Amino acid sequence: MQKILSYYIITLAICILWLTTIASAQQSVFGTNNYIEYQVGTLPFIISVPHGGNLEPASIPTRTCNNAVTVTDAFTIETALEIRNRLFTITGCYPHLIISHLRRTKLDPNRNLADGACGNAQAITAWNEFHNFITTARNTAQQQYNNQTLFVDLHGHGNPIQRVELGYLLYDDELELSDSILNTPKYLGYSSIKNLALSNASNSTHAQLLRGPKAFGTLLANNNYPAVPSQRIPFPGTASNYFSGGYITANHTSYTSGIQINGFQMELNFTNLRDIPANRTAFAIAFTRAIIEYMNSHFTTTWNGCRPLSAKNEALDVFPELYPNPASKRDFVSIDVPRNTRYSFSLFNLLGCIFATGQLDAKNNTISTELLPAGIYVLQISNTQHNVVMTRKLIVQE
Ligand SMILES: [Zn+2]
Repeated sequence: MQKILSYYIITLAICILWLTTIASAQQSVFGTNNYIEYQVGTLPFIISVPHGGNLEPASIPTRTCNNAVTVTDAFTIETALEIRNRLFTITGCYPHLIISHLRRTKLDPNRNLADGACGNAQAITAWNEFHNFITTARNTAQQQYNNQTLFVDLHGHGNPIQRVELGYLLYDDELELSDSILNTPKYLGYSSIKNLALSNASNSTHAQLLRGPKAFGTLLANNNYPAVPSQRIPFPGTASNYFSGGYITANHTSYTSGIQINGFQMELNFTNLRDIPANRTAFAIAFTRAIIEYMNSHFTTTWNGCRPLSAKNEALDVFPELYPNPASKRDFVSIDVPRNTRYSFSLFNLLGCIFATGQLDAKNNTISTELLPAGIYVLQISNTQHNVVMTRKLIVQE
């Protein structure tokens, strides 16, 4: 009895903590034990930070499997937060931000599950939550911006040459090929910006997107941060330990068939960039300038479409009727979505783990509870166009 009681007290505490976070200005959702954080945004832009965490829980053994790399990418979370703040200053809206707070000795989300979690159950949960949060962000942003969305996986490198390395999944020797060869279907097929190269607002070729005058590396270099590939440094050289992009980039961009979103891995040098707060702020300003120019050049979306917080539609700010609640485990719940309104939904348990995501409108207005374990859930519905995010407790009984 005491065990059950203490479980409920702990669950309640986490629940209150989680709901408090949900109510803050920018929505944050935490995974199990707060190891993984998802800051929900409304810009057509997603950043993930897999290697900046500092948490070292004793319950997860230090990773030693398969020659694990365990080096922390110092100050990458801080840099991402600076970029987030700068984007908010410029646009009035936040990017989607997914952060692992676990130290890389405990979890590496940029490796496959076996290598990244080394078989530990808690690490496996965190790995899944990290990737599920990126998928949720992708689906949300893609729906809001009709596939005109960019994803950046943010890292820090320790290579001696102080320049930003952009990884489009093309190896160092492949980047030494001519533009015409890089524009062939074979090399497009290796690229994390495959869809963008096939169709973009500037009619740029793949090679131009990699190292032309409006390539992201060139725009970053124009803002005083040398980058490769770019117009000035079209390829890194084969002896520079260049990072071409890893598991996250490969599995959350158009490199993988069926995924629309384009993106790249960004490896930041340390000196004069990540090392002190003033340098991180300066980089965030330059990065924001470059990324806005890049997206304005090649994407058809506008950054003003994100609807700052003041544009909130109060009429939609009431959670629609939800029934039955409590629901039965073998049934479904209905939500009275107003006509001509569309919500994205996510169903979490009290630990913040996602059980279901999808879309709701007046016709498709049910969520199946058939496969859910009995318990208490939080149903979050959002309409990003009208800047509405609401939550409601849902009880599922046996
Ligand atoms: Zn890294």
